[in-house]
Amino acid sequence: MSDVLFNAEPVAQPASRLQGLDYSVVQQCMHCGLCLPTCPTYDATKEERNSPRGRIALMRAIADGRLEPTRTFAEEMYFCLGCLACMTACPAGVNYAELFEQARAEAEDRRLIESPRRNLIRNFTLRWLFMKQSRLQWIGRLLRWYQALGVQSLVRRSGLLKLFPKRLRELEAMTPNIRPRFSEELIPSIIPAVGARRYRVALLTGCAQDLIFSDVNRDTAEVLAQNSCEVVTPRPQFCCGSLHAHNGEWTLAQELARKQIDQIPPEQFDAIITNAAGCGSHLKHYATLLKDDAAYHKRAELWDLKVKDIHEWLVEIGIKPPATDDRPPTAVTYHEACHLCHGQRITAQPRQVLKTIPNLKLVELPESTWCCGSAGIYNLIQPEMANDLLERKIAHIKSTSAQIVATANPGCLLQIMNGANHEHLAIRVVHPISLLAEAYRAAR
Ligand code: SF4
Ligand code: SF4
Repeated sequence: MSDVLFNAEPVAQPASRLQGLDYSVVQQCMHCGLCLPTCPTYDATKEERNSPRGRIALMRAIADGRLEPTRTFAEEMYFCLGCLACMTACPAGVNYAELFEQARAEAEDRRLIESPRRNLIRNFTLRWLFMKQSRLQWIGRLLRWYQALGVQSLVRRSGLLKLFPKRLRELEAMTPNIRPRFSEELIPSIIPAVGARRYRVALLTGCAQDLIFSDVNRDTAEVLAQNSCEVVTPRPQFCCGSLHAHNGEWTLAQELARKQIDQIPPEQFDAIITNAAGCGSHLKHYATLLKDDAAYHKRAELWDLKVKDIHEWLVEIGIKPPATDDRPPTAVTYHEACHLCHGQRITAQPRQVLKTIPNLKLVELPESTWCCGSAGIYNLIQPEMANDLLERKIAHIKSTSAQIVATANPGCLLQIMNGANHEHLAIRVVHPISLLAEAYRAAR
């Protein structure tokens, strides 16, 4: 492991990834500016360079060989949230997602923003921890004991944290609660369909999701079984690689994609289900990731067709409505995770799931598609911008007077939970599928 963490040998200057891109992707932007009002970073600074149009102009200048990639370029790429709101707004169909991932990969290839601390963190997390679920679970168990034995509350009460820098204190406050049991302890490897089996599906349990929201995975499996699906939950599972692709580790993202395809052969299932928006958005593009891999490309194309977000799948097969029960009417509002609404263009289906639940009344959230600031690990690397976005989101949530806020991505769930706790807001933050699972249970 130490080799992985500390090896920082100089490497030969790589070929430019942006120059290697299909030029039709690079030159698609027609500079109309229609994306600007939808971009949270441009909204915050009103600087052209912080806008999608400005960033694309920088990328094109590098692709054309008119500009050398610099540290400023790399920092700009990491100031971008990767929320993809600009893609939804763009009338020319600019593939910002591909440009953005290649631009960050270029920044990493060229080591434009290296520091020993950053290298250590990236080597530990992206290149070691997230490459095997058993490693993440090991860290999860340590954290679970730290929390369950009361050490965390003791440390917090003792004032010890005051000795640490402000940023470390903020990060400690954001430590998520680790679930008492991980997905494989909660979900049998095969769950039969309730009633006649119509479909056979595989369930992806995710990486961080498995540690922090294994209950959402269990709820997803139950909901699928209630909807005539036999649910196969393969073990072991792997990180989908979205964290790697979004943070410039293209080769590791490819490695993880191959592992997923080997572990969950797409030929064997009617659908491969994900309940995490950020993962789903990435999982549907393995064919692009593996386009030069002769051994995997065809299977990756089939994989992309089989991957379904849970809401998308339920609506496609027809949701079984839960029976009415005696729970009181409750107002729920819905925050749209960027990688569900912009990354996958799934907006109606989660609302349809919520509207199927008898005791819930859906109250629309103002700016429901505006990023909450979570954006993968953005809230860890750009805390000021992320906090501004969170404050804006919480203010809108308050304005609905809803008792529940539903959202379908682990990062958004955590971010909004932290924001609600910070403001002492008595509101439940939950995945829509958990609400549906509860409705099925309540009606039994
Ligand atoms: S991905 Fe989001 S933050 Fe980045 S340019 Fe597009 S709209 Fe702006
Ligand atoms: S990215 Fe699309 S919306 Fe934005 S300036 Fe270019 S063409 Fe216009």
